[in-house]
Amino acid sequence: MRDSMKYLERIQRIDLEIKGFDEEGKSYALKLENLASEIEAAKKNAETLGQEAEAIRALIKGSEEKIRESAERTGKDEKKMGAVKNDRELSALTKEINAANKTKKLCEMEMAAHAQKLDEKNAALKAAEDFVAGKTVEAESLKTEIEAKNTEWKEALGKKEAEKTSLKANVRPEVFRKYEMIRSRRGGLGLALVKNETCQGCYIHIPPQVYIQLKRGTDELMTCPHCHRILYVESQGQLEAI
Ligand SMILES: [Zn+2]
Repeated sequence: MRDSMKYLERIQRIDLEIKGFDEEGKSYALKLENLASEIEAAKKNAETLGQEAEAIRALIKGSEEKIRESAERTGKDEKKMGAVKNDRELSALTKEINAANKTKKLCEMEMAAHAQKLDEKNAALKAAEDFVAGKTVEAESLKTEIEAKNTEWKEALGKKEAEKTSLKANVRPEVFRKYEMIRSRRGGLGLALVKNETCQGCYIHIPPQVYIQLKRGTDELMTCPHCHRILYVESQGQLEAI
């Protein structure tokens, strides 16, 4: 059993390294996923800003049209001035000119306000587009990095799997099966070191007789009564002579 445990401990170290690759891969994938949703949200924002800018441009066009009409009307009225026959006509014409001028002024003010809003909208749109461009570059470089990492992980994984297979030959098959079963159920740890009568897998005290048996070295497979992991001690077998 002592030998089995020694090899099993090395196998567990390899399994943890393999789990590390997997977790690193997942964290990269998550980063990429987050970037993609950030880009999508920013694109939608840019699209909305673009539509808002378009609506403001339509308002400006409307104001321009009204200004042109008012100017035209004033021009026509001014031409009529020379042909007025009496005070009543003069007063009516003056009123009309004043009204057209007033409308023109109001429309000019309106247009200036729209133009300012359009400037603001365009600035926000530019910022949103720049953000999308920046994040897209970031995502591309992350993709390249992941591709390189994938090759690296694949290579390392192949080596680790081979190492595990060769070590496995030194572990009793039933012990190995039990280790794999517990490992799959216990977050990747099938084996736990016992220190000061405490299982390092779950940090709960184990019965003293189990500890003594482990210290002496036993042919029996000892498991933690709480987390069921296979137990071992670093100085296993040292007391065997006693
Ligand atoms: Zn335990």
